[in-house]
Amino acid sequence: MNRKAQEPVPPCGMHVLFEYECPHCHRPTDVNAPSQPGIIRCVWCGNRFPIIPVDPYVMDYFRLMTCDGRAAADPDYL
Ligand SMILES: [Zn+2]
Repeated sequence: MNRKAQEPVPPCGMHVLFEYECPHCHRPTDVNAPSQPGIIRCVWCGNRFPIIPVDPYVMDYFRLMTCDGRAAADPDYL
């Protein structure tokens, strides 16, 4: 058995989900860091509504501060 294949693996990247509150049912729908304005469909009620995109500078900040998620690994497990 390959011993290395059983070792825990740290994160190698990340996606940031943002919640958008549906104006119809007021429940949140997750969207993976939308960079453009658009229309999404509520996962709860199925209605569609327009969203404001995420500022790309905020995403650059998250990626820089966490080294694209790699620095977020719990050091107790490294
Ligand atoms: Zn809804």
